[in-house]
Amino acid sequence: MTNIRVDLYSDTQTRPTPAMRQAMAEAPVGDEQRGEDPSVNRLCETVAELLGKEAAMFLPSGTMCNEIALLLHCRPGDEVICDATAHIIIAEGGGPAVFAGAMIRPLQGTRGIFSADDVHGAVRDDGRYSPNSRLVEVEQTSNFGGGTVWPLEAIRSVAQAARDHGLALHMDGARLMNAVVASGVPARDFVEPFDTAWVDLSKGLGCPVGAVLVGSRETIERAWQWKQRMGGAMRQAGIVAAAGTYALAHHVERLAEDHDNARSFAEQIVEIPGISLDPQSVDTNIVFFDVAGTGLSADDIGERLLGHGVRVGPMGATTIRAVTHLDVDKAGMDAAAAALRSVVTDR
Ligand SMILES: *Cc1c(COP(=O)(O)O)cnc(C)c1O
Repeated sequence: MTNIRVDLYSDTQTRPTPAMRQAMAEAPVGDEQRGEDPSVNRLCETVAELLGKEAAMFLPSGTMCNEIALLLHCRPGDEVICDATAHIIIAEGGGPAVFAGAMIRPLQGTRGIFSADDVHGAVRDDGRYSPNSRLVEVEQTSNFGGGTVWPLEAIRSVAQAARDHGLALHMDGARLMNAVVASGVPARDFVEPFDTAWVDLSKGLGCPVGAVLVGSRETIERAWQWKQRMGGAMRQAGIVAAAGTYALAHHVERLAEDHDNARSFAEQIVEIPGISLDPQSVDTNIVFFDVAGTGLSADDIGERLLGHGVRVGPMGATTIRAVTHLDVDKAGMDAAAAALRSVVTDR
């Protein structure tokens, strides 16, 4: 691989810091499947408390949190209402069909955010012909919507609409803590209306692996059987869970820096001829921009940026995603913006 100095491909590209590695090395461990790993138990208690739910379960990935949550809520043929940009639709290998056997009803929201009216309009009539509307899923922040933060009011009105129809609620909180830092709203307030929710440790929080699913005690007890069936039950997992506890103590407030870096990058690149985006739309650590006006494709630009040691994520013919995180600083973002200017204009 070429020498990548500024990796904006995703906030999954972070490496554990020396202090995080130290916390991992010193973690007390036990058999996680038997509930005997003190570091996993501590992480679960911390996240349950933070998200305001009775119980939590440590899992290898956010994808497994989503897939298990869908299994908890849906039977085959049930329908999940979510935005058309949802990770469960775009990036989980068709998992909702494979595991829960769920149908998906995609909504055309605005940058990943839909409304109570959208939910009312999507709920099926009862009857033998239609699938059973079962679950509303919300992504906080919306990844492919551009890191958009769901305002608390929007969450509450969508949740009310779901409840009016007797639907369950699931939050994909891969970047929930980014939303918390950007909005000042406590995590538990965002999560309050949801039956299940989870937070990713391996995105902006900077852990090597892991995610934590929360819900009622009864829900998490049922989730354990799916975790076992899927082979997600672990042994001395405290080694990685300790990274999560460390990250929640030390890597949350600093997400504000990632947001500042994303905004500053957006403000710099909008000045480049042929690049279009609205810097005001950058809520958190994700910047989507369009390169159609440059005459180059997203892949071309991605390729040329690699030559400057900068990696971004081409997401379509002319769309690119850049994601900030704790392994890139302001100087790195300035260098990335300068590299983009040079690949677009020095031709
Ligand atoms: C990354 C991501 C996931 C999946 O999380 P993994 O830990 O990578 O499996 C799910 N939803 C969203 C919105 C994500 O960004």
